[in-house]
Amino acid sequence: MNKVAIIGSGIGGLATSIRLALKNYDVSVYEANSYFGGKLSSFKKDGFTFDAGPSLFTAPENIEALFSLAKKDITSYFTYRSLDESCRYFFANGKKITAQKNGDAFADEAEKVFGEPSVNIKKYLENSKKAYKNIGELFLDFPLDLSLITKSETYKALLSVKFPYISKSLNSFNESSFKTPEMVQLFNRFATYNGSNPYKAPAMLSMISSLEQSQGTFYPNGGMISITNALVKLAKDVGVKFHNNSKVEKIETLNETVAGVVVNGKRHKADIIVSNMDIYYTYKKLLEDNKFADKVLKQERSSSAFIFYWGINTTFSELGLHNIFFSEDYKKEFEQIFNDSILPDEPTIYVNITSKYDKNHAPDKSENWFVMVNAPAHNEHNWEEQKEKVKRFIIKQINKGLNTNLEKHIVAEDTLSPLNIQEKTASFMGSLYGTSSNSKMAAFFRQQNKSKRYKNLYFCGGSVHPGGGIPLCFKSAKLVADDIQ
Ligand code: FAD
Repeated sequence: MNKVAIIGSGIGGLATSIRLALKNYDVSVYEANSYFGGKLSSFKKDGFTFDAGPSLFTAPENIEALFSLAKKDITSYFTYRSLDESCRYFFANGKKITAQKNGDAFADEAEKVFGEPSVNIKKYLENSKKAYKNIGELFLDFPLDLSLITKSETYKALLSVKFPYISKSLNSFNESSFKTPEMVQLFNRFATYNGSNPYKAPAMLSMISSLEQSQGTFYPNGGMISITNALVKLAKDVGVKFHNNSKVEKIETLNETVAGVVVNGKRHKADIIVSNMDIYYTYKKLLEDNKFADKVLKQERSSSAFIFYWGINTTFSELGLHNIFFSEDYKKEFEQIFNDSILPDEPTIYVNITSKYDKNHAPDKSENWFVMVNAPAHNEHNWEEQKEKVKRFIIKQINKGLNTNLEKHIVAEDTLSPLNIQEKTASFMGSLYGTSSNSKMAAFFRQQNKSKRYKNLYFCGGSVHPGGGIPLCFKSAKLVADDIQ
């Protein structure tokens, strides 16, 4: 049986391990941390439970596919619920709207609240759904290689989508689609789902909104950590061997073919290696291949985030699971993140509260707040210095939006900066999604899933094709496993 070494137990690594074990490979996962899941982890503090990283769960068919493949009943590992609302939006001008799962109902509500003709929203969602069907699936489900570029389907798909999807930025496309600034801002936000700047990223990213609106959003019972726990359990059940506290120091190669990994000074033979570690560090540290590492450096990093985990000793009925408090000047916010590389003075604030569904995530009559602002990728920033300033701003904005005195309700606190993200998961510069999609061609420059230089070396996870975010990490695992025969 061929031995496979997987470096890292993020979503991409876990999903790949399951797929390869089911193909009868002898799979070992080496994880540097004491815990599994990478960015998708959780922790407890002062009676509160927090998901540490991702909070939005979409496209559950990706996880379901693994259980079907393994012929296991998913419900004995993992359950989730479909949500009626995707997000509650609070605008700087005091207006607010709850985005409902049903796109038509959302469009009608937006007409009432903002005066945006509902037909504009309905048409937008319908067109972006078509674009996803025609081009999104083709690009995300196939390897990024010459065959994709030369496929006749690729040309047909490109011709089928409207020209503005390729020629315009998401913001200018949204400005030509909607008449109200609120709808432009709301639909611009979807660029942040892969860490990009709506004023630069192509309009093609509007597909993301249709996915959320047409398929809906979901909540894993027990929180996002349930995804990691279910995958680790399934992987163990199908024979994957796990090694925590096992940082891979080197990928050994012989005649440009992988030979094994070195972990804590000890060599482990492997016929196939899959790196779920950030692609820059895989080249730089494990292969000491500066040429390829420098190539990765030429691509712009996606944004990062600064997070406060707050235990709140009261409850807010105005808030749901996902809540957004928009900034007044969205353009300036992205200029500060991507051009000036500073934490925005007045960032948009995202608040996620899992205790709305899992009551045991907070003590009685309390809530667990995950409060996130977009931040630039780490680069010599002093995050400790920035922390108090951004905290003051967040509290001021939330006090204004909810007419409260939040500071007196914060009874527990922890933080996560872009530097912490880099340190905890070895994600280069703490970027959340690898590289950004801030140019039309960005997606084509992502690292392919199979090494061109080293035989039997593969890559999965958020820093490689097809990109960052949980659904795409699952897809990268499928692409890798399908390629390994
Ligand atoms: P990672 O999670 O990056 O894990 C890589 C693993 O490799 C880590 O466990 C690391 O310790 C290990 N490793 C690294 N180097 C070594 C080594 N040398 N030896 C052994 N092990 C090593 N996505 C969404 O879909 N929805 C969201 O709402 C969302 N929000 C996010 C919010 C935050 C704050 C963050 C940080 C990310 C968010 N994302 C979200 C993105 C999503 O979390 C990631 O795209 C995804 O989890 C990345 O998975 P991965 O497979 O790339 O592995």
